[in-house]
Amino acid sequence: EAKRAGRGRYRMFEPGMDELLHRRREMEIDLRRALALKQFEVHYQPFLDLASDTCIGFEALLRWKHPVKGNIPPLDFISLAEENGLIVKIGEWVLRTACKEAASWPGDLIVAVNVSPLQFKADTLLETVASALEKAGLPAHRLEIEITEGALLDDTDNVLDTLAALRDLGVKISMDDFGTGYSSLSYLQKFPFSKIKIDRSFVANANADSEAILRAVAGLGTSLGMAITAEGVETLEQLARIRGERCTHVQGYLTGRPMAPDQIATFLAQSNREWKGEPE
Ligand code: C2E
Ligand code: MG
Ligand code: MG
Ligand code: MG
Repeated sequence: EAKRAGRGRYRMFEPGMDELLHRRREMEIDLRRALALKQFEVHYQPFLDLASDTCIGFEALLRWKHPVKGNIPPLDFISLAEENGLIVKIGEWVLRTACKEAASWPGDLIVAVNVSPLQFKADTLLETVASALEKAGLPAHRLEIEITEGALLDDTDNVLDTLAALRDLGVKISMDDFGTGYSSLSYLQKFPFSKIKIDRSFVANANADSEAILRAVAGLGTSLGMAITAEGVETLEQLARIRGERCTHVQGYLTGRPMAPDQIATFLAQSNREWKGEPE
């Protein structure tokens, strides 16, 4: 009796683990083919300058259109791509695609590209960026590289050297998801970022602690000469709050969702609309 019950429990547990490993292996096989099969796309989310209320650029966000599973969000496959190293090739494709597409945008619009810590470790980032800019004919000042605190965790000296070399090319460097990692403040001292993007959790939570952190980071960044983007602004009330906190830029569903490249012209033509409104 006991043996059967025990075996039953074991058998109920085991398929779960198998299933997970199996799905993971399957996803890895699919991921390895995704580039060659052209299943990736880059979508673009606008960010606005709060002083002029105009769109000044777009963040490139990777999209995977899986033929069977449909759209797989980046959070579901990027960590896997980091574990198996595929992110280096995929990240290079994103950089080249984003630079090429941005070169067709009007004026001086910026394209911001997320770069994984592993791309720094691969030691080819500088070359890749320089070549992507050149092939696309995009001036360096129109490219912004977004890094997270994770990039500065180990091998910091090499990463700082690469960041400095990128900056010398004329590329902007921003610190993404600020406030979610470890010992965040010390990173601001290590490198003169052009921009800090305050993680959307501090925007979404309207409690006293989040507001105090938002205010402190915006104040500190401003006095260090950095631009401050509030991420994930979804409501007019949040927009009004961040305007009061010395944020210089805003990015969120309120001012524009990520869009396919062919939607950008229409978006720009209709710009300067509802987000100018303040809550009654
Ligand atoms: P991220 O770099 O912080 O990008 C912003 C994410 O927040 C995007 O999610 C965007 O769609 C989402 N977002 C923007 N505004 C709002 C809002 O108002 N509300 C909410 N709830 N969400 C909002 P997405 O596209 O799913 O990307 C998630 C993360 O995946 C990115 O976070 C970035 O860390 C990573 N990622 C995306 N594309 C790439 C890439 O090409 N390379 C690398 N290494 N990472 C990427
Ligand atoms: Mg980002
Ligand atoms: Mg972010
Ligand atoms: Mg994020």
